[in-house]
Amino acid sequence: MQNRTRRCLAIALALLCTISLLSANATMAAGVTQADIDELKDDASSLSQQQKELEAQLEDLKDDKSRALEHKSVLDQQIANTSARISNVEAQIANYDALITQTEQELAQAEEQEAEQYELFCSRVRRMEKQGEVSYWSVLFNATSFTDLLSRLDIINEIMDADQRVIDDLQALQEEIRDKKASLEDSRAASEEARSQLVSQKEELNTQRAAADALVKEIQANESEYQSTLDALAAEEEAVQEEIVRLSRELAAQQAAQGLPSGSAAGGYIWPVSSRRITSRFGNRNTGIAGASTNHTGVDIGGVGYTTPVQAAKAGTVIVSQQSSGYGNYVVVSHGSGNTTLYAHMSSRSVSGGDYVNQGDVLGITGSTGISSGPHLHFEITENGQRIDPLTYLTGYIQAW
Ligand SMILES: [Zn+2]
Repeated sequence: MQNRTRRCLAIALALLCTISLLSANATMAAGVTQADIDELKDDASSLSQQQKELEAQLEDLKDDKSRALEHKSVLDQQIANTSARISNVEAQIANYDALITQTEQELAQAEEQEAEQYELFCSRVRRMEKQGEVSYWSVLFNATSFTDLLSRLDIINEIMDADQRVIDDLQALQEEIRDKKASLEDSRAASEEARSQLVSQKEELNTQRAAADALVKEIQANESEYQSTLDALAAEEEAVQEEIVRLSRELAAQQAAQGLPSGSAAGGYIWPVSSRRITSRFGNRNTGIAGASTNHTGVDIGGVGYTTPVQAAKAGTVIVSQQSSGYGNYVVVSHGSGNTTLYAHMSSRSVSGGDYVNQGDVLGITGSTGISSGPHLHFEITENGQRIDPLTYLTGYIQAW
């Protein structure tokens, strides 16, 4: 080989070998896998299936005024389903974000290894140059790029036998880097898709909430329909009250049998939500419709949305945590024999029957389930088996009725 050619080749290789490759700190994140996301997607698809079933039920109920309470209850289930789908997509997005970070770190690590491997390759080349093992370099001389160089190296594979492993590793790393970049792009696209799904689901939730409130307002606007709804509600409230008193006395008896204190003195309640706005007071109230009056069994606290935590007004044991057509999602806490508090129309409940709660513990989130035409908390206090006016204890309220 001529001296001039050798010099040119040496310059070309030196140039290739001095390309500075990215290096980054590569720490592996604790594992989110595609399997975690697939599991969430399975859950999401069964929730979507339930949503379709609820839509079919709503289609049957929408023109049937005699089943207005049932209609509202299905709307409430639909809203709960949409909220669950929103939580699911939010979890998917969080997992995608973690997966993206993780893949970025792995990619940086692979790139760092590639740089090291490339440096190894270059040092082999330099050593060969020193030792004069360069008879095949003319084949490589016309390489136009590093990739081209690698394919030319394949041609003289036999000569390069000793270096083949180094080159294989380098190629494997490059393949790994290509794959990681592709999977990163996929995750980013999927995350974008989930984010736009979230936007449309949130719009869907608002539409469904508005439809649920509108249905109750429609019931209230129709005199005969409203009176029959109020009658149904009064009957439900009476049945619920009997059950509450029975359960709370049963609990007190159990506690007494175990030698535990079975009650505390009356009073000592704190506000169950942060708002102090009373929008409807305890006792007889006019519904605004001739002939349709009702005995309000508690107070309504407004100034809350769909995300306000509902707290136990006093420590005790949860004796009811369920959904009914009138109260919607409601919880009852027993504070001793015949003394209870009730929290109604919640979006969701976070306690179960039998749970012990301290004063201030979160029981659920405010909402508009049951017969309610907008988010508020219906709050009742029962003492010695009788409902009493909660404003006896809740001081500093703002009169908004
Ligand atoms: Zn109320």
